[in-house]
Amino acid sequence: MLRLPLALAALLLRALRSPLSVLRWSLAHVWPRLRLVLGRSGPGPGPTPTSVNYHFTRRCNYKCGFCFHTAKTSFELPLEEARRGLAMLRAAGMEKINFSGGEPFLTDRGEFVGKLVQFCKQELKLPSVSIVSNGSLIRERWFKNYGEYLDILAISCDSFDEEVNALIGRGQGKKSHVENLQKLRKWCQEYGVAFKLNSVINRFNVEEDMNEQIKALNPVRWKVFQCLLIDGENVGENALREAEKFVISDEDFERFLDRHRDISCIVPESNQKMKDSYLILDEYMRFLNCRNGRKEPSKSILDVGVEHAIKFSGFDEEMFLKRGGKYVWSKADMKLEW
Ligand code: SF4
Repeated sequence: MLRLPLALAALLLRALRSPLSVLRWSLAHVWPRLRLVLGRSGPGPGPTPTSVNYHFTRRCNYKCGFCFHTAKTSFELPLEEARRGLAMLRAAGMEKINFSGGEPFLTDRGEFVGKLVQFCKQELKLPSVSIVSNGSLIRERWFKNYGEYLDILAISCDSFDEEVNALIGRGQGKKSHVENLQKLRKWCQEYGVAFKLNSVINRFNVEEDMNEQIKALNPVRWKVFQCLLIDGENVGENALREAEKFVISDEDFERFLDRHRDISCIVPESNQKMKDSYLILDEYMRFLNCRNGRKEPSKSILDVGVEHAIKFSGFDEEMFLKRGGKYVWSKADMKLEW
């Protein structure tokens, strides 16, 4: 019983320290707790949503064969509703938001994600705002308008061989994914955004030696994921992909890592580390629980609040910390040596 008043006091304190724009959402979160203290029993608070991945769209212009967030719906929240949800998350303790998809720059030609990035930095004063994108739709004008509000831009790149990219499904027509990468890196440098790379290691790129190209691009972090199967997304009856042929063994993954051991910014994520250590919000702002190998949604935070929905997220806070989920994630704290 002591846990609840203590948690409530902490929440009240946080609310009073929050920027004004967040205050009303903070109070909206204090009230349900207060009701519990005033005589109604119920479970204790869930984990804090310190770092959230918001997949606001499932639509994408690529067709990667292992994609585990496929275009099962084309639903996207109106901008104001998305802002409302983000403010609720901030009030509940969010420090980092990552916008993802689908392809985030597809919605309203990048204006949607640009406005959310600006809102999170300017209004919510979030320490870290980042985007994961395949990079194919980003224009320099976007950096001019919104670059100052973005801490990190992570671009997905699984191979420096265009033929391999084509085999994977990462690409569109004749556009070169690799050439585009150089351009994006240059814009990140010019507009003061930290440049990050994400690679999914799979059957088609597991033998590749990427040392030279990664060193030349010099990202702040290079996240290297082991290809993951999610029932209903990239494997199983209702899935839009058949990713079995992309899967590699733990030993294969280790060999790839060993080949790249001299790259200091590498951050490996095996299936074991990835599993349950991400807080994922889908296009309806529902937490997705992956504990059973498939994505089971909670109710939307917009309907039931963050505190309630997060209890169904399956989030493993300990694994999040163990995989180094908390790092220097604000560009103000990074030494961007461009
Ligand atoms: S770019 Fe990302 S979202 Fe699009 S198909 Fe590939 S993995 Fe899926």
